[in-house]
Amino acid sequence: MSSTAITDIAALVTNDPSLGDGSPLGLIHDAALVIEGERVVWTGESSKAPATDNRVDAGGRAVLPGFVDSHSHLLFAGDRTEEFNARMSGRPYSAGGIRTTVAATRAASDAELERTLTRHLAEALRQGTTTFETKSGYGLTVHDEARALRVAAAHTDEVTYLGAHIVAPELADDPAAYVDLVTGEMLDACAPHARWIDVFCERGAFDGDQARAILTAGRARGLHPRIHANQLSHGPGVQLAVELDAASADHCTHLTDDDVDALAHSDTVATLLPGAEFSTRAPWPDARRLLDAGATVALSTDCNPGSSFTSSVPFCVALAVRDMGMTPDEAVWSATAGGARALRRDDVGRLSPGARADLVVLDAPSHVHLSYRPGVPLVAQVWRRGERR
Ligand SMILES: [Zn+2]
Repeated sequence: MSSTAITDIAALVTNDPSLGDGSPLGLIHDAALVIEGERVVWTGESSKAPATDNRVDAGGRAVLPGFVDSHSHLLFAGDRTEEFNARMSGRPYSAGGIRTTVAATRAASDAELERTLTRHLAEALRQGTTTFETKSGYGLTVHDEARALRVAAAHTDEVTYLGAHIVAPELADDPAAYVDLVTGEMLDACAPHARWIDVFCERGAFDGDQARAILTAGRARGLHPRIHANQLSHGPGVQLAVELDAASADHCTHLTDDDVDALAHSDTVATLLPGAEFSTRAPWPDARRLLDAGATVALSTDCNPGSSFTSSVPFCVALAVRDMGMTPDEAVWSATAGGARALRRDDVGRLSPGARADLVVLDAPSHVHLSYRPGVPLVAQVWRRGERR
């Protein structure tokens, strides 16, 4: 197996506090990193780097772990430009919402779904995302949910069954029947293709009892829970996430003190998705409050065609620093190690020996530039599984 050293790294974010400056980022200055095969085998000061077969000079730039985007909805068809334009122009827009995407997704072929998925994955990779989760939830029939997950599973291990996104339009008058479908025949068809089960626990979607029934049924089939919780209003989602040991409670925009306390005393990560608040002009989630309480925070894109059509983790990092009270260091940690925690992964989101060699070289001397220079395409190189992409 050949070895490669990346040398002359001005600042290396390892996310291993036992390395470098001892901060949560485990920052090493004037650093090098050695890759063998798919793995990182050494990190340290550049002057002490061991001999390797190949050498790549980072030219005094910053290196950090590839972003771990733990929440996206990329199995869709259609377009909601008009809806966004109307919302941002203060005009009423009656047609629209998730149902528009459901209709277009059902009408799309498998090949179309896969083309849309791979186009967005390539776009995310160019912006530094090396691990991503993605969900079903725009099919809402047994056939359409299962095929979306099948398409997704060909491109990532982090596949989430979200049959409980909204009640399927044809069962709008009988939500109990839809919950039976989601926990019955649809679950049977979807479980083989997914690792996770998710539910949109919100007024107008699924209430606490329905969400508990759905997640419990999924767990009995070997799927692990995660929840869209407390996005639009206060509700039972966060408490349910903690009760069921969900890997993540996602959104967390409207939290009581009890919700914050429950997250802080659990292994459930609070995943914040500022692209959604940006794209709907909604109030920001309060990252500072969660961090000060001791909760683990992840940052993710929520990339979807309706409420957050961005695949850019750097954009979310900048928003989190500007508007959610995060420091630049915290935001970078949350977009890398935080995302890994939200997927219960320890092989990604860090750059210390044993980790997967997924990394980003920034066209900047420091990871702080991700929020200092918002909107600038700073990602110069992306390495995934030890290979430059
Ligand atoms: Zn979402």
